[in-house]
Amino acid sequence: MNVFTEKKALKVYLSGLKDQNKTIGFVPTMGALHQGHLSLIKEAKIKNDFVVVSIFVNPTQFDKQEDLIKYPKTIENDIRLLESVFCDVLFNPTVKEIYNEKVVSENFNFDGLEYQMEGAFRDGHFDGVGTVVKALFEIVAPNKAYFGQKDFQQLQIIKKMVKKHRLNVKIKGCAIFREDDGLAMSSRNIRLTKEQRSAAPFIYKILKKVRKKYGAENAIKVTEWVSDQFKEHDFLKLEYFTIAEEKTLKTLKNKESSKKKRAFIAVFAGEIRLIDNIRL
Ligand code: AMP
Repeated sequence: MNVFTEKKALKVYLSGLKDQNKTIGFVPTMGALHQGHLSLIKEAKIKNDFVVVSIFVNPTQFDKQEDLIKYPKTIENDIRLLESVFCDVLFNPTVKEIYNEKVVSENFNFDGLEYQMEGAFRDGHFDGVGTVVKALFEIVAPNKAYFGQKDFQQLQIIKKMVKKHRLNVKIKGCAIFREDDGLAMSSRNIRLTKEQRSAAPFIYKILKKVRKKYGAENAIKVTEWVSDQFKEHDFLKLEYFTIAEEKTLKTLKNKESSKKKRAFIAVFAGEIRLIDNIRL
């Protein structure tokens, strides 16, 4: 695997590949890699001649400085994992390399997608995501880029950005990869205490029950039920639960059968924030 920290050198290397008509698949990450990330990389390997993975903990998408500082960094293990799935290139830039001196976000208009859920609870988050993904797309210029449905709102926002800015890249959404007990894999999971880790599969259990209930009850009723399940939970605190249309991400109140819907949840285990979602 070739490792690059400078965009200029990476661009030169990739332009050589493009001259040979090789297709490039790209998987942007913030590192602390796990099997969820690897599932995206494996998919990219199957569908492209070459795979580039970036590891960059993007400061502008964190609304809390503490969360940024405590974000897990495991670069040596990451490199081992990337090599185990035959990743071709790792791009691991510094903050300066991406932002120069000005570590600020651009302002984006994602037609309202950015105000729902994560956007409502994490100030400026999607401007930060848009800024870094656009910058990375400019550097890597991939044919296809892979994003997890674990961050479903992010996936929809990237698709919107590509459409609005007419970027020449195909966005592929990949299924959520879970632990055996159902907990959605996340880099943040390694920060959970033993008790929090044992409690966390409750989140997906609730989502599965929601999928059953939503057949018989409307969204308001189901939402109330979820809120009750988390009341006085010893280790998990519900931040939001909502049933929303996949396309607009707007909360639904009733059962509108013609639209694709998903249930979305954000939960705190102590100071660690966990998100998940399920197709209904
Ligand atoms: P992150 O490093 O958390 O920014 O994630 C990088 C990419 O991996 C994003 O597109 C995530 O949606 C995706 N991802 C993270 N966890 C999972 C998972 N458990 N299953 C599938 N994709 C995931």
